[in-house]
Amino acid sequence: MKIGVPKEIKNHEYRVGLTPPSVAELVSAGHEVVVEAQAGAGIDFEDADYEAVGATILPDAKSVFAAAEMIVKVKEPQAVEIAMLEPRHLLFTYLHLAADKPQAEGLMKSGATCIAYETVTAQGGGLPLLKPMSEVAGRMSVQVGAHYLEKEQGGRGILLGGVPGVAPAKVAILGGGVSGINAAQMAVGMRADVTIYDLNMARLAELDMFFSSQIKTAYASKAAIAAAVKNAHLVIGAVLVPGAAAPKLVTREMLKTMKRGSVLVDIAIDQGGCFETSHATTHEDPVFKVDGVIHYCVANMPGAVARTSAFALNNATLPFALKLANLGAEAAMAADPHLAAGLNVSQGKIRHQAVAEALDLTF
Ligand code: NAD
Repeated sequence: MKIGVPKEIKNHEYRVGLTPPSVAELVSAGHEVVVEAQAGAGIDFEDADYEAVGATILPDAKSVFAAAEMIVKVKEPQAVEIAMLEPRHLLFTYLHLAADKPQAEGLMKSGATCIAYETVTAQGGGLPLLKPMSEVAGRMSVQVGAHYLEKEQGGRGILLGGVPGVAPAKVAILGGGVSGINAAQMAVGMRADVTIYDLNMARLAELDMFFSSQIKTAYASKAAIAAAVKNAHLVIGAVLVPGAAAPKLVTREMLKTMKRGSVLVDIAIDQGGCFETSHATTHEDPVFKVDGVIHYCVANMPGAVARTSAFALNNATLPFALKLANLGAEAAMAADPHLAAGLNVSQGKIRHQAVAEALDLTF
């Protein structure tokens, strides 16, 4: 199959749909890969790196879309990209259509077959193509939390791990799923005093087994969260209620009890945030203070570590991209129901029930 990789054009998106090692795998499986000039330049992949593994560099997105049957991207296609899609195209990327009717209508009009990373499923549950980004955000949350606890950043002037004779910082992690466990791993590694709060008792038991005495677990009752917030130096919001807005676990009233210069990192901000005082921020201006408490609420945290994120995303997407290229979209989806769950649009129609319902369109 002929596979195309355009340069991402969404503001501040430096990741790329296929890294050079992924291209090498596709080429060795007998496929042809065309890459837009400078597609990976933002994370230091030169055109020569792609040529070295057998890709052909094309001057612009238009020639990539014209040459390729399957387009592999990172972000949802922007209007100029949708305009280049045709019924013969297979698009494999994040789409997040449920909240984006204009994009959905554009993709329907294009006639292309569109498979969304975020709805591909895995055996045993979970969303394998979202997981790597939650892993990145979870690990990063502790890094940014430690940074903003520094005095120069407006923080309380606390070292996460303490030193001999001085107690470590208290870290409360709300939600012990993918991002929560990754945050805990980093916080434990930095020798902080870590407690994970969740409503799922089975998950708390797993976390208890996994970390043994390195962390504490607690049922996420309102009272437990209020007490946690009062005592913590760093609170990480990592909850998810699938398909719903994040519950507001930390109220405005609870915030008032927090220590000045403590830090909240709201990973769940892409679902509205789990602190009542959160609002989405950007990497250019990532934090704001309410009642002397620093809020970090960047909705695309993985963008800050775009090179790590591009490799992590490719590790998860490549097996599916290979399947699609080897068998063609129809046969690949017939052979793999988890890949088929990724189908969002084809032949002018929405093909995913939840997406159709969210958009009030026929399925
Ligand atoms: P997950 O499903 O793996 O884990 C969520 C956990 O929250 C579950 O263990 C669940 O039991 C728990 N939970 C649900 N309601 C709760 C409540 N009221 N109190 C306590 N715990 C509760 O989800 P995840 O992959 O870790 O993702 C978490 C959030 O992070 C999502 O909103 C996701 O979209 C977001 N995310 C944001 C970024 C970013 O850049 N900001 C990046 C990746 C993911």
